[in-house]
Order: sequence, then C-alpha cells, then structure tokens
Amino acid sequence: MEWFNRSEADWLHLDVMDGVFVPNISFGFPVLEHVARLTDKPLDVHLMIVQPEKFISQVRDLGAAVMNVHQEACVHLHRTVQQIHEAGMKAAVTLNPATPISTLEDIIGDLDVVMLMTVNPGFGAQKFIEHSLDKVRRLREMINRTGAHALIEVDGGVNRRTAPLLAQAGVDVYVAGSALFGKEDPVAEVHELKCIIDNA
Ligand code: ZN
Repeated sequence: MEWFNRSEADWLHLDVMDGVFVPNISFGFPVLEHVARLTDKPLDVHLMIVQPEKFISQVRDLGAAVMNVHQEACVHLHRTVQQIHEAGMKAAVTLNPATPISTLEDIIGDLDVVMLMTVNPGFGAQKFIEHSLDKVRRLREMINRTGAHALIEVDGGVNRRTAPLLAQAGVDVYVAGSALFGKEDPVAEVHELKCIIDNA
C-alpha cells in the first residue's frame, strides 16, 4: 500500500468475490476494513457477489466513495441504485461481457459510473476482450445522446497497449491490476499509463 499511496492513482478499486456470482473468492469485510484504513484515496468497491444490496451499509461504513454492483446480480437495480445514493455513495453499475448496454437505457441518467468488464469477472491476469472497444463506443454514444453524466470505467486487461485504444473509445476510469502489480516500479507505471491515456 505504501507505493500505492505515493502513486498518481485516483481511486483504490477493490474486488469482492463470493464464489457464487463468480467462481472465485477474494476477501470479506474484515479484510476490506483493514485495507480501507491504509489509504486516504477514494475506495471503489466492486461487488462480484449475489444480492449486493444486502451490504450497502457495510460498504458505506468502509468509507467507500463508489459502490459498484453488477446489473446481473440485481433483480431490482433501480431500487438498489437509489439505496446506494441514500447511503451517500456514488452508484456504479457493472456489465459482464455478454450483457448488452441497452439494459441500462432506462436507468443511465441515475448512474454515476457504468463499468464494463473487459474480461470475464472472477480472475486476474486475463486477456482483454477486443470487442469491448465497440461496446465502450456504444456506451459513450448512449451517455451523450441521453445527456447522462455517468463516467465510463473499464475493468480487466488494461495495459500500455489497450489503454490508448480505450481512451480513444471514450473511457474515463481505468482499473489496472496486472499492469501494475509485480512491476519493479509500479509508481512509475501508473504515471506512464496516465501519460499514455492523456496523449491518446
Ligand atoms: Zn473489479
């Protein structure tokens, strides 16, 4: 966490997996609480879990800035988004690679962030799904056409090659995992990625 706090990263994105919605298990709230205390950067808590609405108050108590739920995991998405806002957090809704952006057409104006999975959720270090670029473009078009203000975030396979392509397609927020972790100088890598994005 020491290098992360020194870096130019704007948010800390945390993946919560339950072994049901996705095949893997990451960590639960006790670990999240510990991690949340180690940084002053805004937390973007990505819940890859079923029934994420059950955990709104727990995510709020972490001090999270953004609560990120999957469209596929929410039967009553509009209500869940309202509850996230009532709890004082920004509402982010994530789409899996196979979920069309048209499912958000009637709620896009209520969202602060739309996140597109650019790999299948549940594991790190996966290959970027190239079709995602077209999906980003179509989402950008929907946001512009409806006058919505949602930021476009992408999660999965962000690196020096894909970041400029994503930037040109209209992405605002980039989640980087494998591109940073294990790098000799991750602080420099964050800087490099941000320069690449700014110049795309
Ligand atoms: Zn994530």
